[in-house]
Amino acid sequence: MNYDENNIFAKIIRKEIPCELVGENSTTIAFNDISPRAPIHILIIPKNNYLNYHDFISLAEKEELINLHQLINKIIKEKKLENDGYRLITNTGINGNQEVKHLHFHLLGGKNLGIMIN
Ligand code: 5GP
Repeated sequence: MNYDENNIFAKIIRKEIPCELVGENSTTIAFNDISPRAPIHILIIPKNNYLNYHDFISLAEKEELINLHQLINKIIKEKKLENDGYRLITNTGINGNQEVKHLHFHLLGGKNLGIMIN
């Protein structure tokens, strides 16, 4: 599958549509999910165009890989999620039910999230 430059997250990165920004570094942004499934539901995405996790790991510069993980960890600390815990998910492809075709990590927390898969 090719990357579609008109996906909703590409538009957020280009500031064509708004988001509730949570954090940012030179290659990564984080914003609140529009339809939160937990008290804390943040999406963390690379600014460059990657479809999914294996695309990102294969193609990204080391700085982008580090930046993404550092921003996730910064938010974990800012939201004080270390003690009570959280869930970090990236859905990929058809079996992963990936809705938006731009790599994103869901960071969920603020309540007990239940079992992972029903
Ligand atoms: P996926 O199913 O692809 O892993 O998750 C996509 C996520 O993007 C969903 O949780 C959905 O609520 C969120 N989402 C879809 N459109 C928008 C939008 O326009 N703005 C924001 N902030 N989140 C969105």
